[in-house]
Amino acid sequence: MKYKPADNIQDLQYFGEFGGVNPSISDSSTYTFLSAKTMFDTFEGNSEGCYLYSRHSSPSNLYLGEALAAMEGTETANVAASGMGAITSTLLQLCQAGDHIVSSRTVYGGTYAFMKNFIPKFNIQTSFVDITNLESVEAAITKDTKVLYCETVSNPLLEVADIEALAKTAKKHQLTFVVDNTFSPLSISPKELGADVVIHSLTKFINGSSDTVGGVTCGSQDFINALRSVNDGANMLLGPTMDSMRAASVLKNLRTLHIRIKQHSHNAMFLAEKFQEDGLRTVYPGLKNHPGHETFKKRMNEDYGFGGLLTVDVGSLDKANALMELMQEKNLGYLAVSLGFYKTLFSAPGSSTSSEIPIEEQEEMGLSNGLIRFSIGLDNDIKRTYKMMKSCMKEVGILNKEMV
Ligand code: PLP
Repeated sequence: MKYKPADNIQDLQYFGEFGGVNPSISDSSTYTFLSAKTMFDTFEGNSEGCYLYSRHSSPSNLYLGEALAAMEGTETANVAASGMGAITSTLLQLCQAGDHIVSSRTVYGGTYAFMKNFIPKFNIQTSFVDITNLESVEAAITKDTKVLYCETVSNPLLEVADIEALAKTAKKHQLTFVVDNTFSPLSISPKELGADVVIHSLTKFINGSSDTVGGVTCGSQDFINALRSVNDGANMLLGPTMDSMRAASVLKNLRTLHIRIKQHSHNAMFLAEKFQEDGLRTVYPGLKNHPGHETFKKRMNEDYGFGGLLTVDVGSLDKANALMELMQEKNLGYLAVSLGFYKTLFSAPGSSTSSEIPIEEQEEMGLSNGLIRFSIGLDNDIKRTYKMMKSCMKEVGILNKEMV
């Protein structure tokens, strides 16, 4: 039977201690032991099912982690206080001083800044490459390279990585292949395509209500144990721990992810096709002229579509700002960073979420300052939304007023 990520999540059952349909929330930072010997064994990592201290693990965080691991098809997972908490701990766990990372050059600005500006302090260097060009990926690998890193669908340019081909390259050079799947949960399953570690910012589609930050690292039991090790585990020692209350609420939101993703994808596909027909420079992996369309199509879990993100290049930052302000005034969405909310969110990444990337590098990767990133919401009547957006575009001079 074909691997069905959403079914995997729903097949997992956890009940509360009084038979509640949701698991009870663990409201403790520390846990008692009946014997001192069990406490010692737990410190040593040898005591299955025992909890020690909530920075290490807690029942609520484990429930959420197991559900996300089921979704991604990994052995297990570790949740973190934010996507960056998951990314930074994962990379610091995998790399020692002197090691090297090969990363896609179009990654979330915070991830880019961490690799470019922060970890060189520990003598860990990164080469940034065009991830869609396998030859340049291969050419960047050195004898010190330990990690190959990319986003399935990149932020903000929506480049599509060929995970299966990249996994082969990683395997050939014995690299750990880490994939950030934040933009394409359910649609693409990187582990099934050969990734070793799959990361999400839970802040986005997975939680979906823009009320918390959160992250997860999905991987093998050995790797997740290493992240949690009391002696040298990056998650345990750096401490980006998600609160149990939050883990419980993210788990409840995860239950509706499959329905939400279908609606985000449906709405984004509709708008992308219409915007393209109107002559706007539109990028969406669902459009046939997207360079990564065939790759995405070949690898996707069809039910969930091509995701909720699209970009439109309106030519200049002034026009982008005027359009975004007007759309917000008309209640078509919010001028805000982040993504995966019920409401459409829009921002100009060059001056916001990717501003960590120097202007020359933004230009080199094709990130122009008139680019608007849209995270399309769950609107029930997307035709009405389109008509209203089109009239905003006419009003600010992006579309010709005579157009029907
Ligand atoms: N990965 C991607 C693709 C993102 O877009 C973001 C945030 O925008 C992150 C990671 C970081 O996640 P968080 O903000 O939850 O730390």
